Amino acid sequence: MIIPESSNYWLKNAHIPACLLENGGENLSQTREGLSQVDLKIVQGKIQKITPSNDNLEDIPTIDLEKKIIFPCFVDVHTHLDKGHIWERSPNLTGTFENALTAVTNDSQIKRKPDDVYRRFEFALKCSYAHGTMAIRTHLDSSGEQGKINLQVAQELKKEWSDRLTLQAVCLVPLDYYQRPEGLVLADRLAEAGQILGGVAYMSPHLEEELQTVFKIAKERDMKLDLHVDENGDPNSRCLQKIAQATLDNDYINKVICGHCCSLAVQSQDVVKRTIELVKAAQIGIVSLPMCNLYLQDRQAGVTPFWRGITRVHELKAENISVCFASDNCRDPFYGFGDHDMLEVFRESVRIAHLDTPYADWSKSFTSNPAQLMGLPKSYGKIALNSSANLIIFRARYFSELFSRPQADRLVLREGKRIKAVVPEYSELDDLIFLN
Ligand SMILES: [Zn+2]
Repeated sequence: MIIPESSNYWLKNAHIPACLLENGGENLSQTREGLSQVDLKIVQGKIQKITPSNDNLEDIPTIDLEKKIIFPCFVDVHTHLDKGHIWERSPNLTGTFENALTAVTNDSQIKRKPDDVYRRFEFALKCSYAHGTMAIRTHLDSSGEQGKINLQVAQELKKEWSDRLTLQAVCLVPLDYYQRPEGLVLADRLAEAGQILGGVAYMSPHLEEELQTVFKIAKERDMKLDLHVDENGDPNSRCLQKIAQATLDNDYINKVICGHCCSLAVQSQDVVKRTIELVKAAQIGIVSLPMCNLYLQDRQAGVTPFWRGITRVHELKAENISVCFASDNCRDPFYGFGDHDMLEVFRESVRIAHLDTPYADWSKSFTSNPAQLMGLPKSYGKIALNSSANLIIFRARYFSELFSRPQADRLVLREGKRIKAVVPEYSELDDLIFLN
């Protein structure tokens, strides 16, 4: 398939999830999987017309997609680009969460100079861009000197990649960090950089007090919050409920994202019901990280894992809570694989969380939902009139075809032009990874 160099052309007979079209594709017929067959007219890099497929031809180049699926470019709302791609030098040989923490801390103490962070971070951006992502939020380990380096690198790369990727950063420290003066310094640094306040919530006797401080800091600086929550299989881990309550108490509605929330899946129906009510009232966005959760949760040496580790995405979505899926860690001690490919995240999420039959509007959880939670312009994550033609064309016509191959030959269009980027060679990082 050749995309014309011309600035005006038609993409005919595309299959597009109706929920990703402007107005949810109303008035368009849909397949049982929610795909609508449409024609897109691209003019000067923008989508000028979206029509039901028809035989009308104009005297401009036309590509017949024969029902190939088009998605808007992806939005990856939860990553850790500062610590990715270190697996070979800092592997997690037991695969447990505890060992991941230790391995990452050791790696940071010995090896992460600015150039090291920069090159691995940029490697991740190259992968994301080549796979068709256009906006990324990354959490950054934020304690001490390493924290300063990570933010500085993120800011540099945000600027350098601004014509290709929208990048947001969130600081990552345990919540009790904000009880100390260095917590305020960190919050000021992030606020000054226009970024997001984050942290890891743990069930501790001081959690409510810690949350009061975090909300106070966020309100004073008008910062959004993005927290790591209940990343475990302990039914007594109820941080999500406490955060939702604190969000309501502080009148900070619609400004909080909670990632992971694994333990919600192992709690009693009563606790789940109450927590979901509070999350809904607080308009908290939930981000599930299925690949990383499946990898880390329920892992014990010599024991076959029993549960899948993900939160209750169906129950949350049924209450109209914004649910997203994202990459999380990549080739680091928290997750030994990954390539920053949101199609892989989608495919794995479908399998792990049974998002299929019906697929309904789950496509939004990888595109428009994260775009909205990140506060991006309305055109992100959607296929809308007059928005830039930032599209991915897959060599697949139905979801079964889409998810049965890696789709490594997908075409990514940015502003209507095919990008030439490919994923980088692993050997680019060899001098950083294979140290003597
Ligand atoms: Zn994370």
